[in-house]
Amino acid sequence: KGVVHKICAGQVILDLSSAVKELVENSLDAGATSIEVALKEYGEEWFQVIDNGCGISPDNFKVLALKHHTSKLADFPDLQFLTTFGFRGEALSSLCALGNLTVETRTRNESTATHLTFDNAGLLVAERKTARQIGTTVTVKKLFSNLPVRSKEFSRNIRKEYGKLISLLNAYAIIAKGVRLVCTNTFGKNMKSVILKTQGSGSIKDNIITVFGMNTFTCLEPLSVSLSGNCKVEGFISKSGYGSGRNTGDRQFVFVNGRPVDMPKVNKLVNELYRGMNSRQYPIAIMNFTIPTAACDVNVTPDKRKLFFSDEGSILQYLRVALEKVYSPNFM
Ligand code: ADP
Ligand code: MG
Repeated sequence: KGVVHKICAGQVILDLSSAVKELVENSLDAGATSIEVALKEYGEEWFQVIDNGCGISPDNFKVLALKHHTSKLADFPDLQFLTTFGFRGEALSSLCALGNLTVETRTRNESTATHLTFDNAGLLVAERKTARQIGTTVTVKKLFSNLPVRSKEFSRNIRKEYGKLISLLNAYAIIAKGVRLVCTNTFGKNMKSVILKTQGSGSIKDNIITVFGMNTFTCLEPLSVSLSGNCKVEGFISKSGYGSGRNTGDRQFVFVNGRPVDMPKVNKLVNELYRGMNSRQYPIAIMNFTIPTAACDVNVTPDKRKLFFSDEGSILQYLRVALEKVYSPNFM
């Protein structure tokens, strides 16, 4: 049974960035306005997500990391999106199976915080009082240490995983309005560097300026298009002629209903259209698709980053027409 659990967990949590993604989304779900991601040795030793959200109430301590435990149906009746996207209650339980999980948390009803330690099966094995502001800190030590092959691969690829994580955090920095986001890495003999720091501004525009700088922002133009089936896409994209020669992918962000996702077909289409007009250039693109949850089929990859739409073909077709319009003055 332990083996099956580990295998399943390894499908929810594929790598460092999918692990941190789950924790950051938990913090956002908890209403945090300040989220810090702290890494030790680029996440290889441990990583931590510290928030000022609502905290976890003591009734939930025991069940917190058990498979399929979730408080969200009750707490978030309006955010239909959350429940639809949920592989509900799998993140903390998976992280327990793959590493060592501890949680420090305090709600506004408690005068002190509690430090909780879980075992690999998600059982609460130790509990003590500690000092903390309202909110939650989740720490994962030695991710994948229970899966020897994955663990070796993780160490070998740590810089790449780290890069992917930074790109994901940039995505949240752009899309999350009113949320302060900080990422630090501690390495060697207590060398600490701040990798990302945002003020949590109220608009995507200001967030883009924080992440990319004003000069880059002036080379973008707004994108706002209605697509088929009550879908729309809004965002910013490089003005014609202001792309980059590199196709690094770290300057293209696709969101669905405000959540970062991988939609390679969208990137491919945008690049194709842009390159058609600018020979060897790739655009910066920030695109948030609003899509009714009924049209999303998210049950395909357990890590939730790959989405499939019942009507993907026509969404892409509309996007093509819309982008051709955006760039059409350059044809004349
Ligand atoms: P899910 O997010 O699908 O509910 P998780 O395994 O990610 O499942 O989390 C389990 C539960 O733990 C959540 O439903 C929530 O009640 C609680 N939780 C996890 N992280 C936080 C957090 N940062 N702040 C408040 N509650 C949290
Ligand atoms: Mg979660």
